Amino acid sequence: MTPLNETHNPALRSWLASAHVAGCDFPLQNLPFAVFRRQGCAEAFRGGVAIGDQIVDLVALADSGTLAGLAQTACLAAAQSSLNTLMALGAEAWSALRLALSRDLREGALQQAAVQACLVPQAGVEYTVPARIGDYTDFYTSVYHATNIGKQFRPDSPLLPNYKWVPIGYHGRASSIAVSGQAFHRPVGQTMPPGATVPTVGPCERLDIELEIGIFIGTGNAVGDAIAITQAEDHVFGVCLLNDWSARDIQGWEYQPLGPFLSKNFASTISPWIVTMEALAPYRAAFTRPAEDPQPLPYLDSPANREQGALDLQLEVLLQTPAMRAAGQPATRLVQTNYRHAYWTIAQMVTHHTINGCNLQPGDLFGSGTLSGPTLDQAGALIELTQGGKQPVTLPNGEVRTYLEDGDAITLRGWCERPGAARIGFGECVGTVLPSKT
Ligand code: CA
Repeated sequence: MTPLNETHNPALRSWLASAHVAGCDFPLQNLPFAVFRRQGCAEAFRGGVAIGDQIVDLVALADSGTLAGLAQTACLAAAQSSLNTLMALGAEAWSALRLALSRDLREGALQQAAVQACLVPQAGVEYTVPARIGDYTDFYTSVYHATNIGKQFRPDSPLLPNYKWVPIGYHGRASSIAVSGQAFHRPVGQTMPPGATVPTVGPCERLDIELEIGIFIGTGNAVGDAIAITQAEDHVFGVCLLNDWSARDIQGWEYQPLGPFLSKNFASTISPWIVTMEALAPYRAAFTRPAEDPQPLPYLDSPANREQGALDLQLEVLLQTPAMRAAGQPATRLVQTNYRHAYWTIAQMVTHHTINGCNLQPGDLFGSGTLSGPTLDQAGALIELTQGGKQPVTLPNGEVRTYLEDGDAITLRGWCERPGAARIGFGECVGTVLPSKT
């Protein structure tokens, strides 16, 4: 795990005033990566790093002559239309670029004028998916989510016997993962209505959100080689926000015996910004298991994982309905929770995924699974918040929701803050439901 270094110092200040605005997600201690271009032009997408309300254009920075050595190598790798090459370079290169950017963006930096010339306002850009995602694996790491969902199907034994031993996951689909701003049509599918004997085909009637984080793999492993838990985080580039939209009625009919299929692969939305594992170092937390639960098997256990395997990352879900939008009302918060409640850590996910020799590749994406906290008001999906649709949520304007309606827009936000550290944020992950095509 990344030790704290000078880039985490909360006293650091940038020469860019917008980096110090209260509540800014992108102070000098964050420096997350995205792939962007200016709106309304045909220029190439390329890597960028957020600072305040600006982006450091990494093509311009690589051309500016301000960097040298490994930092320049990393900058050139990130100046492409996806971050896969940078991800493949490894933690030493990511860290070299972060340190160089941190020094050049600080008050008093000799390179201020040269770096200032590389800035592009965030307000005038569009983003794309920051990596070519070869494979997408979705985990199920919230024991509260697994229990809440299990109760709806098996009230007497909500949690299946493997849950506390194995990080549960399944292989998802990468082609329909899009960046924040995604608008997608309500999926059509096959469902079996209660009491019916013949299935119906039509628009999904129980369209749901899944509040997750996305974990981007950096360096991969050769097929046949497992990644030990002591090395697992060296293979992780960073973390983004992920809304893994789900069609609950389609899921309920199709999921046995092989798991979810078309109920999950029609759209997944990620935030444009990837916050690196190095930036997250000040917000790590102890990973603990209740004494009555099985402790992780030796291959899923290490002193570092116990001491700081968890991550204190605050998360929230907001909803804006079409009526709210028409009335000029802002999105309303549905849920607030924290990633530290996860039952399995990022390192455990990486290690378990490779114990059989499965090879991970730069740009692969893991979903954490829906992140629900210990109480129902911290649930990361409507199926839990509304108890299977039985308890509708009443919004401040009097509207009610059980599942999503056409035109609803969902925003995910995430941030880390802790005494003695800067507050850093993840930006937004926004997606909108369009009517079905049939
Ligand atoms: Ca999911």
